Amino acid sequence: MFNEFYQIFGQMVVIAGILLVFLLFMTLVLGKILIHQDRLIFPKVLLFTIDLFYGLFKKFSESIGLDEQIVDHIGVEVRNKVNEKKFKSISDDEKLLILPHCLRNPKCEATLEPSGMVCTGCNKCVIGVLKEKAEIKGYKVFIIPGSTFLKKIIEQNNFKAVLGVACYQDLNLSMMKLSKFAPQGVPLSRDGCVKTKVDPKAVLDKMGLIEDIHNEKSSINNISPCSKDNPAKRVL
Ligand code: SF4
Repeated sequence: MFNEFYQIFGQMVVIAGILLVFLLFMTLVLGKILIHQDRLIFPKVLLFTIDLFYGLFKKFSESIGLDEQIVDHIGVEVRNKVNEKKFKSISDDEKLLILPHCLRNPKCEATLEPSGMVCTGCNKCVIGVLKEKAEIKGYKVFIIPGSTFLKKIIEQNNFKAVLGVACYQDLNLSMMKLSKFAPQGVPLSRDGCVKTKVDPKAVLDKMGLIEDIHNEKSSINNISPCSKDNPAKRVL
């Protein structure tokens, strides 16, 4: 009786193991299709695997010769795609922009307050530029040294959506925690503890500012040379 039970139990464990390996492998394949071809297939399956088997999925990726960062890369790409429409539909004054303090210039004179670094807008680094543009749009901007600040910001602010910049791992894990706020993320193009980099165009694009610039340009191009209107007035 016991032998039979252990036999069935053993078979079930083997079948579950095979299914799990298949799931991890399929998620990698679908994730690669998303990254390289920009095609999102079975997003719920991707998120289920990443969220539920995060550590195991990283080990599995390494065991087949891939960089474990692929898991976070896939996670960020899926979440960006899944939440894009909802994020765009939310008013800018209900959004937060969260930037990491490691983007700062080494000569930065920003002071640390309970809500994060207070940027003086000296424009020695990309933070000054992004902060100014985002605040004009209505975003609340925070420059944070770590995840403890993120927790406080979430507790103390009323908002419906969030745009963040961070390394792939921090971004994926933060977007996972903030999934009900239609998170959008831009990964650092050079990560580390200091002198990190981000593509400012990618952040502006998420805020809809690149689109605005394109629209402005096309409205200039569409003006007839015979028009008596001042092009600058039309753009404004
Ligand atoms: S722009 Fe802001 S964050 Fe960047 S160096 Fe100046 S004060 Fe520091």
